[in-house]
Amino acid sequence: MGLLNLIPEADTRLFYIYVAECSLGLIFVIIFRHFGRLYRRRFLLSWSLSWLAYATYTASSGIVILFLLDSWIWPRDMLGIIAQLACFLQVILILRGTYELIYDRAFSKRKFRLIFIVTLGFALFTVIAFGQAGPFSRYLVSFGSRAIITGIGFLVAGIVVWTNKKFSKGFGQQLLSGSLISFSVYQLYHFTFRLLNLLGIDALGLDLMGSVDLLLVSLMGMGMVMWFLEDERENLNKENKELDSFLSNTSHDLRTPIASILGLTYLGKLELQEEKARSFMTMIEERIKKLDLVIGDILSLSRSKKVDLKIEELEFGKLLDETIADIRFNKGVSAIQLEYIEGPNDTFRSDYNQRKIILNNLMANAVKYHNLNQPNPYIRVSFKRTRNAVEIAVQDNGEGIAKENIPKIFDMFYRASPRTEGTGLGLYIVQEALTKINGLILVESELGKGSTFKVLLEHA
Ligand code: ADP
Repeated sequence: MGLLNLIPEADTRLFYIYVAECSLGLIFVIIFRHFGRLYRRRFLLSWSLSWLAYATYTASSGIVILFLLDSWIWPRDMLGIIAQLACFLQVILILRGTYELIYDRAFSKRKFRLIFIVTLGFALFTVIAFGQAGPFSRYLVSFGSRAIITGIGFLVAGIVVWTNKKFSKGFGQQLLSGSLISFSVYQLYHFTFRLLNLLGIDALGLDLMGSVDLLLVSLMGMGMVMWFLEDERENLNKENKELDSFLSNTSHDLRTPIASILGLTYLGKLELQEEKARSFMTMIEERIKKLDLVIGDILSLSRSKKVDLKIEELEFGKLLDETIADIRFNKGVSAIQLEYIEGPNDTFRSDYNQRKIILNNLMANAVKYHNLNQPNPYIRVSFKRTRNAVEIAVQDNGEGIAKENIPKIFDMFYRASPRTEGTGLGLYIVQEALTKINGLILVESELGKGSTFKVLLEHA
């Protein structure tokens, strides 16, 4: 390769290390920029800029070390200043991003501008001093101003990441903090080693040709990505909880006025003489009942989400009796024959509340979507046990579900039947409850013939 011919053979490895470091930096620039825009999080954009600074630093210092060390002073000094500035900026931008992540607000632009100008001045000063001969330059070069400044900067960043109390110290946060501190130790080690040499003490420094830098920098980037994902998860959990309690409080509060309106429409129907007014009252009553159904379903969903699981010994026969008692006033239930196919032993371990939600909804649907215009409308419930699981099946010979609608019936608010009075939430609630207790549901159905819902539960 033409370019590599310019480099002494011993430096070829160094060249590849610089290329790898610079490419890694650019990859992280793209990743953090993309996520920063997607999630609209400011700290990700600061971190993206910090990686741009890192890529600039490795590229410019690589060019200086590999190509310009013994050549023209001006290009060398200019790139030197850029490298120095970019290296300082990397630490400053990591700190700025961390500040924005922890305090959830932008770092003041004025302050950042001031820091930038001071850093630029400092970079200029160190590089120009570095370019001159004499004890002053020797002092600055040998003491490694870059190593000491970035070393301290990374140490501060590592401590800030480690000690802030806002996060639950997930693996990403630990990895980022650990790699920042290790990187700082590595820089300070370089500094001490150079200091000892300057003082005339012969210390043998381990020259790993940049491989440690590369490893630590990769870990730093991965730590940042993981910390961000952990933070997003915490935020989502918090928002979910807020939404759940908003839903449950609002639906709870809506129930009281709905009950009053229902009572008033009932009284209105009794008091009003005019037929038209009475029919309006009946329509209002029907709509309010529908609204009450939706709110009841939302309440049951939020309750099922909120309640902690309690695994206990349950008897299926007893649970079925309770469910039958719950749905005994549902429309059409008296015309349907209920058959229960009992296994030899019907006890199993599960959560009572989730199980009740599941069975109640499946039974209520089997009644709701029945076809009473046939000689023998029935619902067959069976309970089977295997070694680790139980299978509960609810079968009906009702109206059935069209094949193309089956995959959608568990979606929120989806209703497959045009004449349904339901809310489209029942099976969604069943699915949510099953997710909580690690269960599965299978559906077999044929339009006009009937449906079978099979629930497979882990026998805890
Ligand atoms: P809903 O509250 O409207 O009953 P579900 O989520 O419980 O909503 O059910 C979704 C759709 O699945 C219903 O609109 C209905 O068309 C269909 N469905 C559910 N169970 C049965 C069943 N046993 N027989 C026929 N159709 C059913």
